[in-house]
Amino acid sequence: MHSALHHMYIQQLPAHTHTTHTSLTHKPDAHLWHARLGHIAKTTLQHMCTHNSVTGLPAFDDLSPAYSTVCEHCLAGRQTQSSHPEQEQKTTQPCELLYADTMGPFKTAYNGCKFAVNVVDDYTGYGMCVPVKSKDQVHTVLASCIDHFRMHHPVLELRTDKGTEYDNQYVIKLCGDRNIKLTHSTPYIHQQVGVVERFNRSLQESARSLLSHSGRHYTLWPEG
Ligand SMILES: [Zn+2]
Repeated sequence: MHSALHHMYIQQLPAHTHTTHTSLTHKPDAHLWHARLGHIAKTTLQHMCTHNSVTGLPAFDDLSPAYSTVCEHCLAGRQTQSSHPEQEQKTTQPCELLYADTMGPFKTAYNGCKFAVNVVDDYTGYGMCVPVKSKDQVHTVLASCIDHFRMHHPVLELRTDKGTEYDNQYVIKLCGDRNIKLTHSTPYIHQQVGVVERFNRSLQESARSLLSHSGRHYTLWPEG
């Protein structure tokens, strides 16, 4: 309960008061931002600082002190505090290649959703996660996600596994209508879907860490 109150308190503070709540919480600012951003890895936070990609994120000189001790909530979420192994990237622009994958069925069907559709851009790592009640809804959600990406850049290729929710007339048509090349990853060639699998794993770990930090019950996040 104590950790839940603590978390709610720091969330209510505006970003520009970070020097004040350092003294109130006895934690360095970088650790606060590590938690706010889903208990992210040091390298990811450093990347966000370098590229000024988060509004209000302070420009930290040195993140090492904040990451010198083990974060109990990362441990609870089984996060490693290091980035997942990078693979050779062949894409050269956003939306050149999107991956789609389905998580589930979940043991705990929160709000009746037993699956989640993840769509991830290979170049940027930007991804979307949308819960669905059944695999029948996957192609509809997939179309919405792809159209979200297309608002920013043309989508050239969609790669999925050969699951029945992707290998069907609906997905073929939605790609055809949008002039998107549809490809399927080769079974058991792990590297071809590594990007979306890392996204799935990061999402699960981040959610567990946030629940640990907030003191909320684990059943609020469905587990596969
Ligand atoms: Zn953490």
